[in-house]
Amino acid sequence: MKTGIVGSGFVGATAAYALVMRGVGRRVVLVDMNKARAAAEADDILHAVPFAHQLEVTSGEYADLVGCKVVVVAAGVGQKPGETRLELLGRNAKVFEQVIPNILNYAPQAILLIATNPVDVMTHIAAHYAAQMGVPSSHVIGSGTTLDTARLRTLLGRHLKVDSQHIHAYVLGEHGDSEVLPWSLVTVGGIPLEEFCTDREVSICPDDYVEIDEKVRRAAYHIIDGKGATYYGIGSAIARIVEVIQQDERSILTVCTPMPDVAGVQNVTVSLPNLIGGEGIIQTFFPNLNPKETAALRASAQTVRSVIDKLEL
Ligand code: ADP
Repeated sequence: MKTGIVGSGFVGATAAYALVMRGVGRRVVLVDMNKARAAAEADDILHAVPFAHQLEVTSGEYADLVGCKVVVVAAGVGQKPGETRLELLGRNAKVFEQVIPNILNYAPQAILLIATNPVDVMTHIAAHYAAQMGVPSSHVIGSGTTLDTARLRTLLGRHLKVDSQHIHAYVLGEHGDSEVLPWSLVTVGGIPLEEFCTDREVSICPDDYVEIDEKVRRAAYHIIDGKGATYYGIGSAIARIVEVIQQDERSILTVCTPMPDVAGVQNVTVSLPNLIGGEGIIQTFFPNLNPKETAALRASAQTVRSVIDKLEL
């Protein structure tokens, strides 16, 4: 199976590398307006193949996306000095106005996996252009809070000294400052978090919740402070989502896709638990949140919607 990656900068190239390390599919094609960069990344990643899995890694044109099951979109432009976030978003919307139809012209059946930030808004924009070509929103998936959810589970696993695979916890809403960590949903081996802590005689106090929340919500800021960009975590998350789609694994992941209504906010794209398989989004779930968490999810969805409102789509 073939995976396309449009935008082979830090995130796109790292996603390609993660596909090779994980052995997802048989071919990866990198497409970028900077052809020399795409070719160089493809060659460099190809040199990792003998030490990992047998994938063919090439660079190419949009025409080379024919037959892709999934196309990852990580294309975007950087912020210019003095440019506002909204102006930057307007320029990235223009990038998607070109990129999304170009992809769908050659790979109309592909599931689009959007990774460009701000990912919720960019996924909404991608779905808008895809809809103009008759592509359903179930084929447009944003990486959303997949990584944030993984971080939350890892930190909880470390605190509780339990394998994080046995922790069910979700980060919902915007992938960003307003994201929601609904503690009321957390279970460990099927046992509600606080009950588990009592059984195991592990303490979890309000300061622990605050500390974990901060580490999840602010993770990207700390990494960007130290090295200017984040890509290993998101690249690995992208490879995992691609694998779920290619293998029709029917996993539940906190990705984002346009929704008619989220906690009273209409026509918005934020992360919720989604059942994902070979056809993209199979179903979106609305977990039973407490009133405080519902209000936080509404505020988060409103934050994203107010940005979408400012774009001229
Ligand atoms: P990130 O850290 O998010 O990966 P980068 O700037 O490293 O950001 O990568 C973004 C990539 O998107 C760059 O390689 C850039 O050339 C590419 N890109 C920007 N606009 C387009 C476009 N219209 N079509 C294809 N690729 C694009």
